[in-house]
Amino acid sequence: MAADARAALLAWYDAHKRDLPWRRTRDPYAIWVSEIMCQQTRVDTVIPYYHRFLERFPTAAELAAASEDEVLGLWSGLGYYRRARLLHRGVKEVVATYGGKVPAEREARLGLPGVGKYTAGAIGSIAFDAEEPIVDGNVARVLARRHRVATPLGAKETEKRLWELAGELVKGPRPGDLNQALMELGATVCTPKNPRCEGCPVQASCGAHAAGEVDALPVPKKRKKPKLVHAVAVVATVGTPAKVWLVRGERALFGGLWSVPMVETAAPQLSLLAGPASARGEGVRSDAHADPKDAPAGRDAAFAALANVGVKARVKEKAGYVEHVLSHRHLKIDVWRAVAARGRDGLAELRAATREEVGARGFGVSRLTKKILDAALG
Ligand code: SF4
Repeated sequence: MAADARAALLAWYDAHKRDLPWRRTRDPYAIWVSEIMCQQTRVDTVIPYYHRFLERFPTAAELAAASEDEVLGLWSGLGYYRRARLLHRGVKEVVATYGGKVPAEREARLGLPGVGKYTAGAIGSIAFDAEEPIVDGNVARVLARRHRVATPLGAKETEKRLWELAGELVKGPRPGDLNQALMELGATVCTPKNPRCEGCPVQASCGAHAAGEVDALPVPKKRKKPKLVHAVAVVATVGTPAKVWLVRGERALFGGLWSVPMVETAAPQLSLLAGPASARGEGVRSDAHADPKDAPAGRDAAFAALANVGVKARVKEKAGYVEHVLSHRHLKIDVWRAVAARGRDGLAELRAATREEVGARGFGVSRLTKKILDAALG
């Protein structure tokens, strides 16, 4: 990109940038948090989470010292919880290996859990003024249009080309602002639909605009439809006031978040919802998950879901039905109720909690679990 287009982008950014909280800091840790939160999540949604998170964990050391429960609790509602766990792990490594300071060297940053080219480049350019490119969805759209990249997003050759273009562009003064200008342009002007080319600082040199191809570029990624998954979830209560048995870890759908026991009933990837049979303890029916064709249904599935996680209970009746769409899975879940439940001792990833406890801030629970509890308990 010619130097004048680069200058135009920076001038436009200075005049039009949104006042976002992470744009008021050069702290690499805070920028890291913001970049992870903003992945696949709207800026408006992120802002209150960002404030709460940094109020509670103002430094890498404070985040590193926190329990995963607390971290996931503060993340609850933002989705994509794997991001939070990786951020937590990455920050722990920064504290253990780099004395709590996010490393200025790109290679060291790239070695941290959860830090790929994009995050490393964002931290490098914004916090350390390094000429490191970034390509996110917004940048990809701007570059693909401006340079008429006509291969589909996500394809290897496209990614390579876009990173090369971003790499050329970032060279020069204010690399962090240049990267943010490109992201901002993509977010506010060069939008997926109805881009406002008349207000675009690089219109004069935009290939797609000149060729009348703006609506045709970028060529979208070929998306797979979310996979349809049928499952049974069990809300098993114990005691008065009633507590619900919850599970997390490798036996749970969302890893670090608490959810009710579940088992897939009609599709092949049973292991996504249930841990290995050998680790499940008492009451496991050895034939329950041997083959997807033999996957249990209804009451049997509810029994299996409980047995998988070491909970003994009397399965009562089907209490409701919940649908939940994730990026790659469309879940159709029959919700069953069970009572007189008893959890098997010695499983760290199993606990019983009241509705109030589950609803409290800081309790790491997914929205899906809340929907399931509503379906069963009202
Ligand atoms: S001129 Fe239009 S298509 Fe080209 S970069 Fe600007 S907003 Fe995007």
